[in-house]
Amino acid sequence: SMPDEVPLDEQCERLPYDASKWEFARERLKLGKSLGRGAFGKVVQASAFGIKKSPTCRTVAVKMLKEGATASEYKALMTELKILTHIGHHLNVVNLLGACTKQGGPLMVIVEYCKYGNLSNYLKSKRDLFFLNKDAALHMEPKKEKMEPGLEQGKKPRLDSVTSSESFASSGFQEDKSLSDVEEEEDSDGFYKEPITMEDLISYSFQVARGMEFLSSRKCIHRDLAARNILLSENNVVKICDFGLARDIYKNPDYVRKGDTRLPLKWMAPESIFDKIYSTKSDVWSYGVLLWEIFSLGGSPYPGVQMDEDFCSRLREGMRMRAPEYSTPEIYQIMLDCWHRDPKERPRFAELVEKLGDLL
Ligand code: AMP
Repeated sequence: SMPDEVPLDEQCERLPYDASKWEFARERLKLGKSLGRGAFGKVVQASAFGIKKSPTCRTVAVKMLKEGATASEYKALMTELKILTHIGHHLNVVNLLGACTKQGGPLMVIVEYCKYGNLSNYLKSKRDLFFLNKDAALHMEPKKEKMEPGLEQGKKPRLDSVTSSESFASSGFQEDKSLSDVEEEEDSDGFYKEPITMEDLISYSFQVARGMEFLSSRKCIHRDLAARNILLSENNVVKICDFGLARDIYKNPDYVRKGDTRLPLKWMAPESIFDKIYSTKSDVWSYGVLLWEIFSLGGSPYPGVQMDEDFCSRLREGMRMRAPEYSTPEIYQIMLDCWHRDPKERPRFAELVEKLGDLL
């Protein structure tokens, strides 16, 4: 076993990959449409025949490199694969199903497919279909005209809509399909017309806390926890993704402070911004921002605020976001707890699981 202080990605780099357990024959994979692509990788949908001893064909997501990828990008994806094998299975993470690593073809990491895409886009699509409870959903007209929540300090918030390029800027990824494309094609179960309720929002928050409790117990620091990295699967199950590739953004000097867009500043704890310190406690800070995203139905954090040095120093001086439109006082207090200036004072994921479980 390895010492706890060594980050998981550095530990895993040196670990072997158990091909007998994970290797999947490329011929049994039929690649389909693209789900997302970015600076150093792409995700495509695929059909896998006989994966995980299944006698049938299963829809999966395949992570691979783009054409012309460098050796260090190859190594990063291989490290992500090793991290995934090391971490193990949990309902609330995007689980590894297999991999194609043999020479003579591209490196492919096969993970669970999440039908409804990322939580940020999904919540935005529900802005006219939010209700306090299922009963209200049956008897009331959808609520219209939402205001973006503002800031505790500072000027009047701007009502700016979030563009997909902006929301994916930090992960370097963008989606190929808008949700409306998906709606037309794949809404056979009517899921996109279903309203969502307060219970759903608390359930998503609870599930992410559970997934993070698991990842942190496995010594995994996510470093890019945000609604764009939470995927929605069937039965309202949410799963944390990108807990392997994300950290390479920080190891690769190209992604550090090269214009603020590469850094997920709005999600970062002050100690990460100023001292490049990442820990489970900085993940807890990001989780607070993720809660804000959930309870604003996919709003862009710090609406109308320029991401610059002034923002960073105001954050250090104690500036925090105001409560988002759909949060309750209890939920907002959880956010403020996650945004405690002192990392040690922020709650542990186990405590967040308990609190949200009670609210649920
Ligand atoms: P990522 O490379 O993980 O940042 O993915 C970029 C986008 O592709 C995500 O925001 C999702 O919308 C989509 N995507 C990634 N992984 C999956 C998956 N396992 N299932 C469904 N969609 C995915």
